[in-house]
Amino acid sequence: MSAGPPAGLPTNARFDLHMHSLRSDGRQAPEAMAAMAANAGLDVIAITDHDCEPLLPWGPTTLGGRRLHIVHAAELSGMHEGQELHLLVYFPGEMPLEFRRLLRGLCLARVDRYEQACVNFQLADLPPPDEAARAGLRALTRTHLAQALIDSGHARDTAEAYSRFAGSAAGLVPDVAPRFLGLIRMARAVGGLTSWAHPPAAQVAAHLGTFVRAGLQGIETARPKLPGPERAGLQKLAHRHGLVQTGGSDHHGWPNQRPLGQWSFPMREARPFARALKLAA
Ligand SMILES: [Zn+2]
Ligand SMILES: [Zn+2]
Repeated sequence: MSAGPPAGLPTNARFDLHMHSLRSDGRQAPEAMAAMAANAGLDVIAITDHDCEPLLPWGPTTLGGRRLHIVHAAELSGMHEGQELHLLVYFPGEMPLEFRRLLRGLCLARVDRYEQACVNFQLADLPPPDEAARAGLRALTRTHLAQALIDSGHARDTAEAYSRFAGSAAGLVPDVAPRFLGLIRMARAVGGLTSWAHPPAAQVAAHLGTFVRAGLQGIETARPKLPGPERAGLQKLAHRHGLVQTGGSDHHGWPNQRPLGQWSFPMREARPFARALKLAA
């Protein structure tokens, strides 16, 4: 197999394969994020909104004189043995219709969850889900519920809002997540490349083998502030299980996060991913 430079991508291409726009719980519009990414010298990005269809066209584009490749992707939440885990799903082209339908269904389940939580809080003045959410095109997360509590004067800040969710074990904010293993199988059935997002060390030790047997193809081995030894441990496991590595900033546009493009996932680690997505030779 040739180890030459991938077609269309520079040998030192910079990736960011995990970020959120205001279509889920991020703060910035997808178009603005793409412009920022190109301007900051990223070569490949994936906007991985929770349960949301991509808005920007798949493929290479030129922004401000810089070439940027946009990968279609999403981040899904799934339950495994009582834990909520996150799955990144990437596509080697346009996101297929079957997967878009699945995402819309997940967004609609989030509308139900939001409305049920409003009933459970016994607060009649919380803002109702907006039209995009009701159409299954925007993911209402716990962050949105917290913001609704703040905006309507029932909490002073996010911390206080979240403390009101403390009863969520009792069902105040119901879980919406389907089974993690089911998500892996559904994503693969429609040609998605699956990667376990920000895997917690204890969960990796306990469950990675099970997930790989269910079809998991990748694991997120890199993100800002991940300690070196932990990153090395994940890379070792990726090699042992024959998994592709993905890396992303999990950028949300929050004030405490570095601007998009300051951190990146390097080509030397991203190459198997790039090949699997046919971005590379
Ligand atoms: Zn996540
Ligand atoms: Zn994320």
